[in-house]
This record gives sequence, C-alpha cells and structure tokens, in this order.
Amino acid sequence: MMRQYELVERVRRYNPDTDEALLNRAYVYAMRAHGTQKRASGDPYFSHPLEVAAILTDLRLDDATIVAALLHDTIEDTATTRAEIDELFGAEIGALVEGLTKIKKLDLVSKQAAQAENLRKLLLAIAEDVRVLLVKLADRLHNMRTLHYVPEVKRNRIAEETLEIYAPLAGRMGMQAIREELEELSFRQLSPEAYRTIVGRLESSRERHIQAIAEIEAQLTKKLADNGITAEVTGREKRPYSIWRKMERKTVGFEQLSDLIGFRVIVGELAECYRTLGIVHTTWPMVPGRFKDYISTPKQNGYRSLHTTVVGPGRQRVELQIRTRGMQDVAEYGIAAHALYKDGNSAYERLSSDTQAYGWLRRTIELLAEGDSPEEFLEHTKLELFHDQVFCFTPKGRLIALPRRATPIDFAYAVHTDIGDTAVGCKIDGKISPLVSELQNGSEVEIITATGATPPAAWESVVITGKARAAIRRATRAAIRAQYAGLGRKLVERAFERAGKPFDEPRVIASLHRLARTSLEDALAAVGRGELRANDVIKAVFPEWTEDVSVPQQQRRQPEPITEAGWFALARARSVKFKVPGHGAVSPAGPAIPIRGINGDLPVRFAPDGGAVPGDRIVGILTPGEGITIYPIQSPALKVFDDEPERWLDVRWDVDGQERHRFPARLKLTSLNEPGSLAQIAQVIGERDGNIDNVRMSRRSPDFTEVTIDIEVFDLKHLNAIIADLRAKSVVSSVERYNG
Ligand code: MN
Repeated sequence: MMRQYELVERVRRYNPDTDEALLNRAYVYAMRAHGTQKRASGDPYFSHPLEVAAILTDLRLDDATIVAALLHDTIEDTATTRAEIDELFGAEIGALVEGLTKIKKLDLVSKQAAQAENLRKLLLAIAEDVRVLLVKLADRLHNMRTLHYVPEVKRNRIAEETLEIYAPLAGRMGMQAIREELEELSFRQLSPEAYRTIVGRLESSRERHIQAIAEIEAQLTKKLADNGITAEVTGREKRPYSIWRKMERKTVGFEQLSDLIGFRVIVGELAECYRTLGIVHTTWPMVPGRFKDYISTPKQNGYRSLHTTVVGPGRQRVELQIRTRGMQDVAEYGIAAHALYKDGNSAYERLSSDTQAYGWLRRTIELLAEGDSPEEFLEHTKLELFHDQVFCFTPKGRLIALPRRATPIDFAYAVHTDIGDTAVGCKIDGKISPLVSELQNGSEVEIITATGATPPAAWESVVITGKARAAIRRATRAAIRAQYAGLGRKLVERAFERAGKPFDEPRVIASLHRLARTSLEDALAAVGRGELRANDVIKAVFPEWTEDVSVPQQQRRQPEPITEAGWFALARARSVKFKVPGHGAVSPAGPAIPIRGINGDLPVRFAPDGGAVPGDRIVGILTPGEGITIYPIQSPALKVFDDEPERWLDVRWDVDGQERHRFPARLKLTSLNEPGSLAQIAQVIGERDGNIDNVRMSRRSPDFTEVTIDIEVFDLKHLNAIIADLRAKSVVSSVERYNG
C-alpha cells in the first residue's frame, strides 16, 4: 500500500504549492474511518481510495480532487457525515464527496426506465462539478483492475455498465488512456472467448509485428531527422478490443485486418505536424480516404491530431497519428489536461472554462431539462456517447457539431428550432440535396425554409439528435391536434345546423365547463377524435334542447369519413402501442410484439425472409385489405415498393426490455473445410446464448463450405456480438447477415 509521504510526493511533483497538511489530514481521516474494513481481495479497504487518489495524481489534479478521492467512500460505508467533512475539509470537498455518494448506488444497466433515470442523476451530479466524474472514473478504473476478486455473479454487470456508460463518458471527456483501459478490461470480462482468440492470434504474429515496428520506427525517425525534424516515434500493436470493434464495424475477419500496428509521431510544434505528414506521404503511398485533419477541426472532446494510413515497407498498412506534445497530453488526459497549461486559481475554475468536452456535457444537461421521457433521453445520450461527431458549417461560417449519421434536419434544429420546423429543403456545398442525406465532415449546409411549413412526422425516425426529435414530436402533436380540431369543427357546425341552432363561438366557449374542456380547440379536437359527441356540445349550449331520436343511432353518430390521405397522416403521426401476434414458426409461445407508429386495427406480420430483429431500422408496408408487413430497412425485398411511397409507414420497435423474446435472423458464412469447424461455429453461437434453428451447407470448393444458419437472437446487439465472435475464429473466413 502506498505510504502517506509517497502520495504527498506524487502531488508535489506537479503542484509545488500543494496543501500538504490537508492531504495528510485526509489520508489519516480516511484510513481511520475505514478502519478494519476489507476489500473482496482481502486487502485493507483503505487501499482502494488510496489507489483512486494515485490514479488522479497521474492526471495531475488539484488538491480538492485528490482529497475527495481519499474520502469518496466514507459517507456511504462508514459513520462519516457530510457535515463532518464540511467541518474538517471545507464545503467544496464536502460537496464533491456527497456528489460521489449520490451516484455510487446508481444502477446504469437495469431496466430501461430506471436506467434512464439513473443516468440522468449521474449527469446532473457531474454537471454540478465535473471533478465528480474524474473521481468516479478513477474509482471505476481501480474496481475494474481488481474485478477478478469480485464474486462471479456481479462481474458481468459491472463490466457491462463500464463498457456502456463509463468508458464512453471517459472518451467524451477526452480521457483516452482511461477509456481504453476500461474498454479492454470490460471486453475481457464480457467476451472471454473473443478476447482469448484475438490475443492468441496477435501472439502468433507478434514476431512479425515487433520486427515491423522496429523497422518503421528507425526509418521514420531517420527520414524526419534528415529533414530537420526531431520526433518521437513510437509504434504499438493495437489492443484486442479495438481490433474487435473494427471487425464488428468493417464486417471483416481477422485475416483481412491488415493494419494491426499503429504509430504515434510526437513533434515539437504545430507546423511540424504538417511537414511530417508531407514527408510520410512522399515516403510511402497513402491509403486514400483515411486522412483526417483533427487539428484544423478538433473533435468535440478537444482531441487534435493528424491521422493517416500508408502502405509501409513490407506492404502492410500502417496507421499514423501525428501531433505535438501538448496535443498528446489532451489526447491522453482530456478535460483533466487543461489544468496543465494554466496557472493560478483552482483547477476547478480552469476545468469549467469552456472546453469543448464541457460544452457537450452542458448541452446534454439542457436536453434533460427539455423534458423528454427518460427512455428517449437515454436513447439519445447513448447514441451521442457512442457516435463520433461530424462538423458542418452554416453559410455564414458558424460551426455546428453533430453526432455522426446526423442529417440536414438535425443541422437545421441545431441552428434554431424555428429553422428546423419550417425546413423544406437544403443545399449541401451549394448543391440541392435531400434533407434525409447523411452529413459529411466539413460540409457547408444551407437550409431552405418556407413560412408556415410543418415537419412531417416521418422525420422523427430519421433524425439522430434528441433536440430534433423532441421538436418534431411537439410540432407533429400540434399539427395532429389542429387536424382533429378542424374535423371536429365541421362535425359540430353541421350538428348545430341540423338542430336549427346558431353556432356562436362565444356562447360555446362560455359553456365549455359543462363539457369539462378547457378550450374551444380542445373540445373540437375531442369531437374530431370521437371522444365527444357533437350533439353533446349543442346540449351544453342549449340545455333544453333534445336530440331527435327518430334519426337512427347509426346514421346520427356516423363520423365524417377520413380521406385516405388523412388516414395516412394520422397513422404516421400517432404513436400507438400496437400488439402484434408473434411469428408462429419463430416464437412458438406466440408472444405479442409491440411496434410503435401503427394506427388501429390492421393486422401486422413480419416479412417471411425479412428476419427483422429489435434494433434494426424497420418499415411497414401497407397492403390494402391485408394489413401491414414489417421489413428491416436493408431488405432487398423492399425494392419492389420503391414506386409506391404512399404504402410506406414509419414504424418503430417498442420492446421494453422486460420480456425478452427471440427473433429470427439468418447468417451466411464461409468456413474452411477443417475437421471440427462446424462444431467450433456452433460452440461460439451457443456460448453467446444464440439458438440455432437450422443449418444448411453447400461445399463450393475443396477448401471452403458455405453455411446458412438460421438463428434466434434477442436483438441486433446480440446478433452483432455473435457475428463478431464468429469473425474472430480462424475457421471462419467470412460472415454476413442475410436479408431475403
Ligand atoms: Mn470506491
């Protein structure tokens, strides 16, 4: 265990003005408070807060943060109170420790609704003081490093929460070193099979890698020195998790991954980054499409660097990151690194200054305040956590940062809600483009608006940002309401006419209380929706009036027929939970599958070869007289309906995560003809809890067999995990999902 003076020494190395007495007091206080408590490893409990403090000294954080780390578990686990900490260490540290206590018990991988609420609490605590997050990340890092001591049953949950929430948060705050370590440790716990396979295969090519790294380091250093640039060139093998992610993303097998080593070139000043790039590109051929300039447009978390990939000696692909020492510190320490370059004041003031990462946090918190449902908030925050950013510009040159895959509609709403609401078209880099296209980095986007336009409800499933989705939903609700109110007005006016009574708005408004309605529009919309009878409105105004019962009931209550176009508008806009009978052959128990976005009573079924699983983007195709068929958006079968846009319905999954059902999917796989290869494939699927429904094989050559596997999975994430595990196997040369 680290000694008291060692901790103080670590802090003094980067902060000569540290308050030693304060650190000493906290050390002794925490050690006494935890007393004889033990960790799962058998170590004294105090070793944990001490390690957490040590991790934070690597980030060179201020005294208050280090002290908060030492005390972070005291309120929760010992007799200590907030008041006591305030008294002994001051209110600033008291608030930090209380913030950490609040978020300690938050379960971030529980059921959707609870998870969302917990994530919200976490972000609110962080928003109060971002140092809470820094301590929390260090806390989680130490817990992950010692995860093997924790009872088996708890490990997966902790690792899952780390991979889903804390690692992306670290990344978003720009703390890449911590992010990477959290990811590797979680991956190892959650996918032991894939981890072992990748590590094994890395080991078998280690010799080759070491040679290549040494060779390139030497060549590049010399080449740069010849050009008068002093650079620190370091190469390393990629980490298993980043390799796995790449296999998942690029849908390639291990063998096709050619760039398994990467280099970092650290130079003295900014101009040398570009000179180095020039030298690299004239020495080795560059791989097109891989160059990225994060110096001129930094990532939202403040990351700056040049990235390129070249074909190095030995014909292998080599990835290079070129940056200055200062950029390197930001890349590694992120938001914590900003403390390094300024002096005076407390670190906190420096941290809260407008760094890009902090801006992201603030915007996320603002979104919280806009009052979306917690589930929606979760969906969007997760999306934004996981996705890289694209940067686009307004015609006046204002930079708008959006999550990757964002559309011009998201862009419009990011500029201003009114612009989003009235957008009817756009120009990307001067060219008229569809509003649903995917934005590319660096594009200039001009939004064309039309006064009085309202956003189509269908946009809701196209946009990526929470802000856009919430605004579209608001506008859609208002438009639908107006539509119903218009219909209601016609019905009411006609009823008054039939009754021979004058339809007088002020008198109707004066009688609203008898209908328990707050506004005329509200009452008319209720009539339009069929919740209120037009005749009841007459009765409210003329209590003495009686209905002419000679008119047959049916005829009297017949609502105005809604036109087909009107029906579509309603069907698209309404978010009605709809239960669908299960796919017989697929789910023998026949569970109901809820899908959102479908109105009323039409039967719904899945396309026979569709294989849609929750997480897939889906569309419904309307067949008059038959009902609605659900297809995954990538299904080639949809091509037939291209010319009939009026049959397309926007639908969304509404699976609430409590009942887990299995859904069918089909894989096409090419396997080496080796003894036992099929058994290995089956084992991988089994270990991931996939059900194999059917397997068909056809030998295409003496070396390879094509295998079609029908499996049942819970959702897209589950399916992708299975695919990635299969790709990691050496007997598998390719795996693709197959859609119809
Ligand atoms: Mn702890």
